Amino acid sequence: YEQLVRTAAAHPARPALSFQLRARPGDKAVRLDWEALRAEVTRAANALRRLGIRPGDAVACVLPNGIEAPVAFLAGATAGLVAPINPLLSPEHMAALLRELGAKVVVTLAPFPRSDVAQTVAAALASAPSVETVMTVDLRPYLPRLLGFAAALGRPKVAWPARVRVLGWRRALARERAEGLDFEDAETDRPRAAFHTGGTTGLPKLTRHRARGMLYNGWCGAYYLIGPEDVLFCPLPMFHVFAVYPVFMSCLMSGAEMVMATPQGYRGEGVFENFWKLAEHWRASFLVTVPTAAARLAQVPVDADLSRLRLALCGSAAMPRELFQRFETATGTRIIEGYGLTEATCLVSANPPAGERRIGSVGLPFAYTEVSIRDPEQGAVELGPGQAGEICVRNPGVSPETYYDPAANARMLTPDGYLRTGDLGRIDAEGYVWITGRAKDLIIRGGHNIDPAVIEEALARHPAVAFVGAIGQPDAHAGEVPAAYVELVAGAAAEAAELLAFARAGIAEKAAVPRHVEILDELPKTPVGKIFKPDLRRRAIGRVF
Ligand code: ATP
Repeated sequence: YEQLVRTAAAHPARPALSFQLRARPGDKAVRLDWEALRAEVTRAANALRRLGIRPGDAVACVLPNGIEAPVAFLAGATAGLVAPINPLLSPEHMAALLRELGAKVVVTLAPFPRSDVAQTVAAALASAPSVETVMTVDLRPYLPRLLGFAAALGRPKVAWPARVRVLGWRRALARERAEGLDFEDAETDRPRAAFHTGGTTGLPKLTRHRARGMLYNGWCGAYYLIGPEDVLFCPLPMFHVFAVYPVFMSCLMSGAEMVMATPQGYRGEGVFENFWKLAEHWRASFLVTVPTAAARLAQVPVDADLSRLRLALCGSAAMPRELFQRFETATGTRIIEGYGLTEATCLVSANPPAGERRIGSVGLPFAYTEVSIRDPEQGAVELGPGQAGEICVRNPGVSPETYYDPAANARMLTPDGYLRTGDLGRIDAEGYVWITGRAKDLIIRGGHNIDPAVIEEALARHPAVAFVGAIGQPDAHAGEVPAAYVELVAGAAAEAAELLAFARAGIAEKAAVPRHVEILDELPKTPVGKIFKPDLRRRAIGRVF
């Protein structure tokens, strides 16, 4: 909150946040400058305090992108502990997270045609008894007047549990003072945010972050020379660390503007259609993206002036080698790869924005981050230079109570305070970090460890292939055998047998050749666009997702 007050004093009239519900240039947009954001966050924090939120009390934000998500984030972190939650989770998963958090307040969408977020939350609340209040955000200000009117008429009823008080977000804020907090926000370094992991390898895990870990990501923005002139274009969901920490915290610390787009995976593909026009319209200078989105964007014809766009940062999963060139040829914008994870408040390392970029590596650790390669069997034993092992990370985001689950803290944190990431890799002579696989994803075929990335990279070289997910399929003899699932480039054609032959020719290690390749219309993906392997594993044992 103090940082917000400082930035608002330095850049009161500069834009801070912008959002458009529908991805069309010229469509209705909502924009706040830094002073308006300060006022809005102050009102929201005061409202949460009035609802009984004290340090440590959880405010769950189950919101799609919009101005309210970052406002509620800062307000929740100021008054208590904020917990952004993916609105697309099932009611059961959502309820489990709300119970683990002991959430008192939930901020979510008002019932709205074509949005079942409120329905999901209402179902989750039935088994989350700690929740006392629901604050609902109405999306009508984002819509053209007529559509907003129609939305009000078509409003479905939601059965909130009787014990829960339901308040309109804007109405509650309008009653509060915007000049300053009604309470002391002593800058003690207490936990202020809780995020769940992506659940790429299993159930989402709940982690908690202190102010120093949150702001550390903002300092990292200095590495990319992010300043008040910058506009960070962020088509990622605001319940994932990537959007909140490296992007929003960098803006908070520098006075840059964040433009949120409706993320890929939420309400279909619309965001790609006008992507470059939107980037031009918002004068974007910096793009954050993930490999699956970057691959799509490299195919979207650039029909706009991107001369202001100076850099794209890509993370969250391995970026295929050939994508660098495809993306840069298509957009004229340099793209660099970085690495991070929820447990470490996101950023760990990245390739330098200028200087040597090592393709295939996730770059150099940021300041205040130490990376140590350890024996995967015994987390405390550090391996020698250049040797491959488990990547362990110590940075301002990792604390002894990183996970809510004490057993996970005991398992995943080493006695000297490193987090075991479950990622495998090595550090080269110049300090660049290379990820070679994920311990949890390894396919074990009759005692051979097979890295699925080997199969994925080999198949991705085929011109008709857009995305690949390789997994281990249970097998009576070998324990597991590799199987690959493929999504084709739109309009391209290929046969599974042809792809299998292509894989066979391109993979040196015989055991790593997939037993079979299957083509799907679309691969299952998480909201940040990672291939969702648990669904592929279910498919492999005959349980179609
Ligand atoms: P869960 O931990 O629940 O399975 P998740 O791993 O998707 O979910 P996140 O915190 O969103 O949770 O993702 C962090 C992981 O993403 C890292 O541990 C790493 O495996 C992967 N990752 C991030 N950036 C990169 C990158 N540049 N290259 C390869 N992998 C990456």
